[in-house]
Amino acid sequence: MTDIGQAEIARSDIARTDIARDFRRLYGYAPEGVWAAPGRVNLIGEYTDFNDGFVMPLALPHTAVAAVARRSDGRLRVHSADVGQGVVELAPDDLVPRADTGWAAYPAGVVWALRDAGHPVAGADVHLASTVPTGAGLSSSAALEVVTALALSELYELGLDREALAVLAQRAENAFVGVPCGVMDQMASACCTEGHALYLDTRDLSHRQVPFDLAARGLRLLVVDTRVKHALGDGAYAERRAGCEAGARALGVRTLREIDHVQLPDALRRLPDRTIRSYVRHVVSDNDRVRRTIALLDAGDVRAVGPVLTEGHASLRDDLRVSCPELDLVVAAATEAGALGARMTGGGFGGSAIVLTEADGAETVTKAVEAAFAAAGFTAPRVFPAVPSAGARRLA
Ligand code: ADP
Ligand code: MG
Repeated sequence: MTDIGQAEIARSDIARTDIARDFRRLYGYAPEGVWAAPGRVNLIGEYTDFNDGFVMPLALPHTAVAAVARRSDGRLRVHSADVGQGVVELAPDDLVPRADTGWAAYPAGVVWALRDAGHPVAGADVHLASTVPTGAGLSSSAALEVVTALALSELYELGLDREALAVLAQRAENAFVGVPCGVMDQMASACCTEGHALYLDTRDLSHRQVPFDLAARGLRLLVVDTRVKHALGDGAYAERRAGCEAGARALGVRTLREIDHVQLPDALRRLPDRTIRSYVRHVVSDNDRVRRTIALLDAGDVRAVGPVLTEGHASLRDDLRVSCPELDLVVAAATEAGALGARMTGGGFGGSAIVLTEADGAETVTKAVEAAFAAAGFTAPRVFPAVPSAGARRLA
């Protein structure tokens, strides 16, 4: 919820040391531990996770950090350094799905999901601070959920593995907060490792760490936060989701994951509805782009991933129609300035784009994007490098 950039990455280190002290000031005793969980960007595989498809996120250095201690009286107290709201205190009866608890719904939803799954979580005091920009498509919400889930799992010795934590966190967001997101964000925050992208099959949550050492190859992945969020996005996600489900029904498959790119031309011929046809084309082709990206990374041909990203953007813009002028401008300006490739990432209609560029061309690309935004009269974007970082972990 703070400014992005190097200063902010540094701030996440400050948060680590300050967070326990602030907990003590707030609650009058020391926390039992401090945990961190990162935000993420998705390299490729967009709008595929609710179709049982493939995704490839990487964790950002930006994290939500939480100091936590158990309580025995069933109550939950949560405080965020980033929200001027004071401590939110919730009794067990307050933990009902869709209760209007504001930002506290994210950690509260995790407690609810754990209890609902039969885990004995008596209560907790939580103080957190986050360097993950909110509402920029970088999953500040998943970072909040996963850091809470990991802390409680360890404190209450629930023995939950990373996949189980991610699924519980997703359930908190779906059922308690009321956001129908897929499982990618929570899996990324829980399972990513430094220097890797996470190749995730969302059908069964099987995953593999794919080496993505940009620095060693003289490359850089930039995140460009457009700082806009078009209202259109809210209904559009549900509409795309419904369209994909209708496409799967029409094709007689459970999900679009079951169609591969070889079967795509035939599948498209069987779909009379133009809109559904274009949604299906996006999902099937983006699943294929994930597979091609993996093959390129495994072969060490990282530069060749660039055009795959740009192709993915065209698909999101023209077939799924979830882009917007600001995101299109990032891609156009960056590629014109010599970037290897670029695309919107996340749900679209604003939020962030990613740009793959030679490290020594990063400044030229950044300036070109900034100049294009200024010329178009758009709010200045924020640009920072996406360094593939570690997933959720205990800090103290
Ligand atoms: P994204 O996950 O892409 O950042 P969301 O809309 O899913 O966007 O989640 C943003 C919401 O998460 C915020 O509106 C707020 O309720 C909550 N949130 C994120 N970070 C914090 C924080 N540091 N403190 C309190 N609430 C936060
Ligand atoms: Mg979110």
